[in-house]
Amino acid sequence: MPLHFFYSSFLFFASAAVCGGQLLASSSSTALCYPNEAMPTFYIEQFGYRATQADGAAIERQLLDRGCTLASSPNAADVVVLNTCTVTGAADAQARDAIRKLHAKNPRTHIIVTGCYAQRAPEELAALPGVSYVVGNSHKPQIPDLLSSFALCNPLPHAFVSTDDLLRSRQLSFVAAQDAAPDSATNPDTAYAPRKRARILIGDILDQHDILVAPVLGGENNHTRPTLKIQDGCNNRCAFCVIPFVRGKSRSLPPEKILDEIRQLSESGHKEIVLSGINLGAWGRDLSPRHHFPDLLRQILDQTSVARLRLSSIEPLDITRDVVALFASSPRLADHFHMPLQSASDKILAAMHRWYRSEHYARRIEFIREQLPHAAIGADVIAGFPGETEGDHAATMNFIESRPFSYLHVFSYSVRPGTRAAALHNHVAPATIKRRARELRALSEEKSASFHRLQSGRTLSLLTLRHSDSTGSSEWIPALSSNFLKLRLAGSWQPNQFVDAVCSGSPQYICAPCVQECGELGRPQPVEFSHRQPLEAFHCEPLKLGHPEPIRQG
Ligand code: SF4
Repeated sequence: MPLHFFYSSFLFFASAAVCGGQLLASSSSTALCYPNEAMPTFYIEQFGYRATQADGAAIERQLLDRGCTLASSPNAADVVVLNTCTVTGAADAQARDAIRKLHAKNPRTHIIVTGCYAQRAPEELAALPGVSYVVGNSHKPQIPDLLSSFALCNPLPHAFVSTDDLLRSRQLSFVAAQDAAPDSATNPDTAYAPRKRARILIGDILDQHDILVAPVLGGENNHTRPTLKIQDGCNNRCAFCVIPFVRGKSRSLPPEKILDEIRQLSESGHKEIVLSGINLGAWGRDLSPRHHFPDLLRQILDQTSVARLRLSSIEPLDITRDVVALFASSPRLADHFHMPLQSASDKILAAMHRWYRSEHYARRIEFIREQLPHAAIGADVIAGFPGETEGDHAATMNFIESRPFSYLHVFSYSVRPGTRAAALHNHVAPATIKRRARELRALSEEKSASFHRLQSGRTLSLLTLRHSDSTGSSEWIPALSSNFLKLRLAGSWQPNQFVDAVCSGSPQYICAPCVQECGELGRPQPVEFSHRQPLEAFHCEPLKLGHPEPIRQG
């Protein structure tokens, strides 16, 4: 984030002196004071998926750079930054719940709520007890300044913008003012007695041209596979989706910055890096000169030593025959394609304002299967979009059933205020949505099991991951294949190692590492294995073949 952005846009922050110590709420306003000399301690509570987590990582990096200290838990922090998601109604409810619990447990902690929910419905969040500031995505880069400015004990009058004023002053065609009004009258979670309101820092997200960047090192599997967000925002307008209105226009991280970040991550020992974005395939279209995502992948392969690069999710039309050929040409590109499908009924796809039809999606699957017969193919699917009939649902089920999907992420449709779909009159009954989502999840399980069966006996290059906190078995370690099989690798291993292993047909998905005696190089034989065998049974040396070979920089 360029510094000029901080200091030119919000001059009132520029004079902020840093003083520290215990954080106090002023008695007359919500301004906060630090009478001593240390910066506040902070904790970031994350919600949502990779893109949101990437923003949280960037905030953490900025706060650490400013001299703030990361607290070990929310209760030990002066300030808790809640980085919210608003992609579904359930995500909103989860954030409200967390705020209430946090405040009840430690009423002295000051809560800053940011992220997509903060951008979409700031006044709804400002009404919750314990919230000191609500900072929209438009102002997220200013959070470090905000913590610094607490030292002044001053309110921030220029920063306050009500959403009604914002909507009146802007031509926001996607949302009518009444749609964006807080729904505290109807939402019991946000009904509140008159109280001191939190301050709101929000602007028009469509004016945001910057992109917060820092690899996500925490989260899933704890530091083993960092996620690097290289693109934010979206220029599409899918009828169900609120993301463009809370994240703004598509914007891309310049290629040099991406290459630098990847080099640093690789040099610090990370073997797999996940590239993420809100609309990853749109990367580079906003840059001048315009760049193309496949060229970026080639540059990463040629100019960094990353051992394995994975894409988080990419729109189906961005998966061309050439892109698949590129993946097929390099074992360093994980053979894993997560392409949102949403529905396989063309009528529903049209109503969703998706720009492909089921036949186009099917063709993408064919491209992949022709060149990468073992690649993982995952999809997002929405159950119960307005107007979805039993016939439409059956079309989606049949489409998925008859194609080689490896897994699904199933979402139950929920109304997002301000979206086109919210204004439709043919909403599906909640019980029907629930049942269809259940059927899709059951289908997903069948697909995953059948994909695993097909991999049984194959030698896979696995990356060992950390055990999650709740487990710590010394008999196996979680591991991930290039084609996104989450497996248990038998034996005691350090995380972040590539190990070639034979995929077993065990329902526990336990794999045995290959042993040197098992056959000539390149064709190891399956090892007889039962996870109940004692550890000594696995005195196996992993084979050194099949690893993605890093290309030297140069
Ligand atoms: S492509 Fe559609 S679903 Fe995805 S972020 Fe953009 S508007 Fe939302």
